[in-house]
Amino acid sequence: MEKVYSSINALLAYAHKNLNLSKKNLNYVRNSIFRLLKLNSYSGDEKDFVVSDETPEKLLDEFTKACIAKNLFRVDDAEYYRDGVMGEIMLLPDAVQSLFEEKYTKDGSATALDWFYDYSIKCNYVAKALLDLNPRFTSKGLIITINKAKPEFRDPKKALSGNAAKEGYPKCNICNENEGFSGRNKRTLRTIDIMLGGEQWFWQYSPYGYFYQHGIAVNYEHIPMHIDRSTFEKLLDFVDMFPTYFIGCNAPLERIGGSVLAHDHFQGGGEILPMHKAKAFYTMVNSKYPDTLVEIPDWKGTVIRIVSMVRRNVEEISENIRLKWLLYKNPAFGLIPYDEKGIYHAISPTVIKTKRGYEMNIILRSNLTSSEYPDGIFHAHPEYHMIKKESIGLIEAQGLFILPGRLEKQLGEIQTLIVQGKPLCATLQDFALVYNEVCERVGENRNIKKVHYAMKETLGSICNAILENTAVFKDKSTTVLFMNDLGFDVLL
Ligand SMILES: [Zn+2]
Repeated sequence: MEKVYSSINALLAYAHKNLNLSKKNLNYVRNSIFRLLKLNSYSGDEKDFVVSDETPEKLLDEFTKACIAKNLFRVDDAEYYRDGVMGEIMLLPDAVQSLFEEKYTKDGSATALDWFYDYSIKCNYVAKALLDLNPRFTSKGLIITINKAKPEFRDPKKALSGNAAKEGYPKCNICNENEGFSGRNKRTLRTIDIMLGGEQWFWQYSPYGYFYQHGIAVNYEHIPMHIDRSTFEKLLDFVDMFPTYFIGCNAPLERIGGSVLAHDHFQGGGEILPMHKAKAFYTMVNSKYPDTLVEIPDWKGTVIRIVSMVRRNVEEISENIRLKWLLYKNPAFGLIPYDEKGIYHAISPTVIKTKRGYEMNIILRSNLTSSEYPDGIFHAHPEYHMIKKESIGLIEAQGLFILPGRLEKQLGEIQTLIVQGKPLCATLQDFALVYNEVCERVGENRNIKKVHYAMKETLGSICNAILENTAVFKDKSTTVLFMNDLGFDVLL
């Protein structure tokens, strides 16, 4: 048992140093861990209580090994106990909230958010070490990442953690009731309460975030995703509270939105994504709104940007664009807003604060399908599905592509074939487009460095083509006409 006790003490020492575990609570928390493991005795030594620079991952590995050796739990249940022990040694939600508020008041929002993000990593909720393994590069104005961080699905029957998921509690994956829920291994989830549009919401980081400080703002109430005028108010409240973050809302329709449509939430974080940096292709003005510009950015998707210091103007113009788009009909472009089968038009708003004021970007989306495009006319077209088949949500629409983990191996194999001057093998036939484009880019000189660079370029051009597929207006002059109808004219 020596190793079990010393591994627990190492975790306690870690928590004392990194997770604000107080000396006063030490024995109490150790006993809580004993309760979790059903242990009734302790022969550990206080000199075990050594603060090391080990990562929680490493300390948990030692703890797991020691416990399995003593039959305290089975390998299949390790996740449940690892999550459980971390949940015991960290602060309770109210203490995290208080500390966050204290830092917010004293040092400002950026410091408070940095602290909370760091805390979420140190308690092992955000899998930062895994995230850092994801290949990530920029190409053709986009950020492309291959997501290896999400662990493989394990058999839920074997793991204790899977048992409760079917019971309907919590109602979904992002409900606040998940905070500390062992049934979904959420003992280490901590959230921060925020007020948006006069409603009680909360902020939390994403365990497998796709970018720096990626998180979600979630309604306390489990109600479906929807966008109305109050959405703009809530988004603006958010950036007023956290001006170093962007925040956006997925289109609340299937095939073009996020994976959780059942629960009202936004996505945001501490990285400014490529679309926000895209320069204005056209700038438009309306004498009704002095001090306010509307920009049509140089971007493949269809997006309208409202720039103003005046919140009321941003809200009003955003709402006018939303109302117009929900009814916009243009059969020549295949745009039908709704029919007897349902609604096809939606917007995806996303906002940042800069020295120019608020910059609200309204992305116009349609999820209409046809016999030619059963997955969506304005979705990645079939020739690109080997790269990206899942819906193009808010994050991708802003220029950060999250590609499936399998690609690392597949693209690696293709690169090797090209370097060796070999044809594409049968199992990779779907990638003929990638193979041919990379070959064309490298020409005769096929060294690995050149091939690797050409592969990145090719992925960048494919992702741009996918964005173009999602564009409801293929020409920016159509976006200008759309805004003309709302009283805006191009600034000459
Ligand atoms: Zn929910």
